[in-house]
Amino acid sequence: MTLSNVRDLYQQVILEHYKKPRHKGKTDPVHRHQRGHNPSCGDTIELTVQLNDAGDRIEDVKFEGEGCAIAMASADLMAGALRGKEVGEALLMVQRFQSMMKGQDEFPKELRKLNVMAGVAQFPVRIKCANLTWHTLKAALESPNSSNATGFISNEKEA
Ligand code: ZN
Repeated sequence: MTLSNVRDLYQQVILEHYKKPRHKGKTDPVHRHQRGHNPSCGDTIELTVQLNDAGDRIEDVKFEGEGCAIAMASADLMAGALRGKEVGEALLMVQRFQSMMKGQDEFPKELRKLNVMAGVAQFPVRIKCANLTWHTLKAALESPNSSNATGFISNEKEA
């Protein structure tokens, strides 16, 4: 397969998640709720998270929002990858994704679906689009009892 075929394949996967998201909606119940906004592109995202009884493991993540294909596909891929993950593990995934957007890291085999986003690192204007959902997740997980949060977080100042 040539390099451009590989790139087309990745674009297809991204478009498929954009057109037919599998994790759109709201979790029931909602244990964490966070909105995020990427002003440089206009993407908005609203994440809801359902945790286990102990509050240390993610049962489900769903998203709603509007934005470009990269932002929406990234949210759908992320939601799928987070099921059953411990909160600490999920925060490490946030870090790893952000490193991947700098071209410095990628996910191991069991999470390799997330690596379809790696190509975005080559398009600096799109990096914030891909990062938005992870940035929003981090805020959701780090603010306990945020289920009534109404404020937007913005990734405008993110490097
Ligand atoms: Zn975008």
